[in-house]
Amino acid sequence: MSAPPADSPAPGTPAALRRRAAGVLADLEAEYPDARTELVFRNPFELLVATVLSAQATDVSVNAATPALFAAYPDAQTLSRATPEEVEPLIRTIGLYRGKARNLVALAGLLQERHGGEVPDDFAAVVALPGAGRKTANVVLSNAYGYPAIAVDTHVGRLARRLGLSVQSNPDKIEQDLRALFPKPRWVFLHHALILHGRRVCNARKPLCSACVLRELCPRTGVLISA
Ligand code: SF4
Repeated sequence: MSAPPADSPAPGTPAALRRRAAGVLADLEAEYPDARTELVFRNPFELLVATVLSAQATDVSVNAATPALFAAYPDAQTLSRATPEEVEPLIRTIGLYRGKARNLVALAGLLQERHGGEVPDDFAAVVALPGAGRKTANVVLSNAYGYPAIAVDTHVGRLARRLGLSVQSNPDKIEQDLRALFPKPRWVFLHHALILHGRRVCNARKPLCSACVLRELCPRTGVLISA
């Protein structure tokens, strides 16, 4: 754990916040050196589909459904020819499956129509796809194409607020706050590590603060640098 040194800047200052962010990053790097997405995919198309399915659903539930889905519809062309009613039975174990089936078929149609069946490596083009948004675009561009990005999901947002790295509730504003605090080459890692930490330790309802590697940096524990 990265405890504040004796010459810590005054609590609440931008310097204190930057120092806390650096400590959080160092501790997460030590705790989750191999942090990466837990969605299973083999290409950008599969990642895009899995990410759309993962909205308000667990990665485990998505990974359980996608092998059969990708076997039936391995690319945008085959999926664009399906009806939502044909897709629904393959994803019905995932929350909001009816709406997601509609979005996937429409999304595949747009990929065919505008992008030759490929997932574009362009942020605005991915955001424009049905069922996609800023978070989906960030996940796809970072994991499929290596772009620096921070996708703010429920875990990233919760941890950013608990750790005092952002006071915002809007995901886009949280993303901007995190971008300003962390070095660009570590954005993708930070996103994955915060998700892992949110799932395993800093749960929404019952955070395991006594076992948390970030507890000495976290304002919520009251030990330390509170800003
Ligand atoms: S100390 Fe508690 S609230 Fe803070 S990051 Fe760790 S688990 Fe979350």
